[in-house]
Amino acid sequence: MEVNAYAAKEANGDLEKFTYELGEIGSEEVDIKVSYCGFCHSDLSMIKNEWGMTQYPIVPGHEIVGEVHWAAPR
Ligand SMILES: [Zn+2]
Repeated sequence: MEVNAYAAKEANGDLEKFTYELGEIGSEEVDIKVSYCGFCHSDLSMIKNEWGMTQYPIVPGHEIVGEVHWAAPR
C-alpha cells in the first residue's frame, strides 16, 4: 500500500510531500486512514534531532484522528 505524507529529509528541513510503501501490517499493529493530525513540540524536537536519535526522512504528527481499516483478530 502506498502512503502519502509530509516528511523532513534532514535536520531542520522543511516538510515536503513524501510517498512510501507500507510494509506488511504486523499482528500487533493497526491500519489507520489518517484524516487529521496534530503537531506538538515532540514532533519539532524530532525534526530538529534535538534528542540525537532521529532517522530521516521523518514523518511527524503522531497525534491523529482517522478510521481503523484493519486490525489483527484477537
Ligand atoms: Zn505529542
